[in-house]
Amino acid sequence: MKVPFNYLNQQFSNDSIYINKWKKLIKSSNFTLGGIVESFEKQFANFVKSKHCIATNSGTDAITIGLKSLGVKPGDEIITVCNTFYATVGAIIACGCKPVFVDCDERYQINISEIKKVITKKTKVILPVHWAGASPDMKKIKNLAKKNKIKILEDACMGIGSKIYLKNPGTFGDIGTMSMHPVKTLNVMGDGGMIVTNNDKLAKWIRKYRNHGMKDRDHIDFWGVNSRLQPIQAIVAKIQLKKIKRIIQKRNYNANFLDKELSKINEVKIPKRIKNNKESFVLYIALFKDRDKLKKFLIKNGVDVKIHYPLPLHLQKASKNLKYRKGNFPIAEKQATQMISLPVHQYLEKKHLIYMVKKIREFYSK
Ligand SMILES: *Cc1c(COP(=O)(O)O)cnc(C)c1O
Repeated sequence: MKVPFNYLNQQFSNDSIYINKWKKLIKSSNFTLGGIVESFEKQFANFVKSKHCIATNSGTDAITIGLKSLGVKPGDEIITVCNTFYATVGAIIACGCKPVFVDCDERYQINISEIKKVITKKTKVILPVHWAGASPDMKKIKNLAKKNKIKILEDACMGIGSKIYLKNPGTFGDIGTMSMHPVKTLNVMGDGGMIVTNNDKLAKWIRKYRNHGMKDRDHIDFWGVNSRLQPIQAIVAKIQLKKIKRIIQKRNYNANFLDKELSKINEVKIPKRIKNNKESFVLYIALFKDRDKLKKFLIKNGVDVKIHYPLPLHLQKASKNLKYRKGNFPIAEKQATQMISLPVHQYLEKKHLIYMVKKIREFYSK
């Protein structure tokens, strides 16, 4: 049996709904911003319950632009977690700021008790990540930031469709950022990102900055960038957003099944699931004994598994100047040697789930 990790060809197998809408777009030839992008922004604002949503070219751009809107300056320190996607750190560096890492916890989320220890006079922003579609305790982070007069930008690139304390990831901090890249649950046949905020002033600045700083066609208020969501992607996004609740439901069903079955196997450690966090399960990550051998065994048996990621960011070559060492973040470092991401997507059938569990059992019984 084959258990694929990638499901995009299934997701888009009925392509006529997109093509029909694209044909209308082609006729109108409104290829930059325009009504469709605005309409998606409104739909998204309604979905996440945020006052302002500004669509960008990617999640990475959303983070970079979001940080700039908070007025970060070169040399400012930004606290984030060492087990995130590269873009979180790339965006910090793109703003000329210094990433200050902290370890994660047993749920792979930023370790909140470690944040306090690295706050300095130069700390400008705390940048928590909703890793894998689960969330850190945003209430605690908010209190901590408030007490220290530090801003929050949430990397909720994997957070679309999750809930923490009944609210959407990205709506706790000053700024929230999302991604619609093909690996995320809301994906749009290409790149796409979103910035959300309840702050009118920030929203106004971001909206202009995303589009060259243009007030109108003939007037530039300040120098900006081109980071617009394409209408072609907005069309896909509008259709996909309507399906998101069902997608998350199915992923939760699959994850619950895996949690229940894998927790019976001694060599497997699943993360704690907390009551106030409804996860979106962009990734299903668990820790496995003899990880590398198990990974080979599963792939040989048709189960397409991945590792997100085998090397924490503080140990990457790109981090050399930051002067971290092996041993600085023991939890993330240990997890990196044990984690596997199993397929959990909405197109899996029960037989796929049963097969995966059976093969994992078989590996450990040998
Ligand atoms: C996907 C992702 C990003 C980057 O988003 P892109 O749309 O690919 O640029 C940033 N941070 C995290 C945590 C992500 O998962």
